[in-house]
Amino acid sequence: MPRNVPTLSLLALIALSVAACRTTAPAIRTAAFPDAQARLAQQNVDAVIYQNASAEVYRLYQQGYELARIRLDANLARPHTLPPAVIVDIDETVLDNSPSNAEDAAQGRTWSPAHWKQWTALAQAKALPGAVDFLNYAASRGCTVYYISNRDADEEAATIKNLAAEGFPMADAAHVMPMEGTSDKTARRTAVAKDHYIALLVGDQLTDFDQSFHDRSVGYGKPHVDALRDTLERYFIMLPNPMYGTWLNAVGGRGDSLKLINKARFLEEHGY
Ligand SMILES: [Mg+2]
Repeated sequence: MPRNVPTLSLLALIALSVAACRTTAPAIRTAAFPDAQARLAQQNVDAVIYQNASAEVYRLYQQGYELARIRLDANLARPHTLPPAVIVDIDETVLDNSPSNAEDAAQGRTWSPAHWKQWTALAQAKALPGAVDFLNYAASRGCTVYYISNRDADEEAATIKNLAAEGFPMADAAHVMPMEGTSDKTARRTAVAKDHYIALLVGDQLTDFDQSFHDRSVGYGKPHVDALRDTLERYFIMLPNPMYGTWLNAVGGRGDSLKLINKARFLEEHGY
């Protein structure tokens, strides 16, 4: 059956790559998967549906921001001398980009800066459930809100327009902090912490709390979560994103064909 050919071909290449993983160059693997983008796009469909359409994710965001309010109240009651601030990520934290991921999947393509920027330039992303209310509440409690995002500087104007249109507080250049040469947000968090008490952080990636979570080499990062659990519990709200992230790169690596092989290998290793 023609429809079985890609599967057989993939399994054969996995076997070859496992056998020759020390000598097979990534370029050879890439050449073996001319349709790698389309396959990866298809693999992301369920995640996009879950993020975009499920009442479960809708509720998870509500729940996350309900917990954010409880944690913020508790942290504002702790002794502090500097004025308080709340730091949030933007993508999949306060704005929903699942239409961009849906478009990518529909077109059979993986993420690219060009298509991403076509989307962000529209400034049409919708606010995620609970985000606007929570940040307006934080502002009413005297918190300055900072949006620390890995969107590029050339997306900043459209991002501010989008945030303002959705009703987010402090949507301006003084409070939206785009990427400055590195996706590591540590320096930007440190700049805020210099003259603020950071009362809470919210994100869809653990690296929105601390860059140390970029390292997933031990137990996919789970032991590190346990090691920092008390701090995470007090100061970080984790939101869902099954579409992309450090967790996926940790398994798939970079490069479309490598991702296909690595994800298939992961399933081989984690089945029972
Ligand atoms: Mg994000």
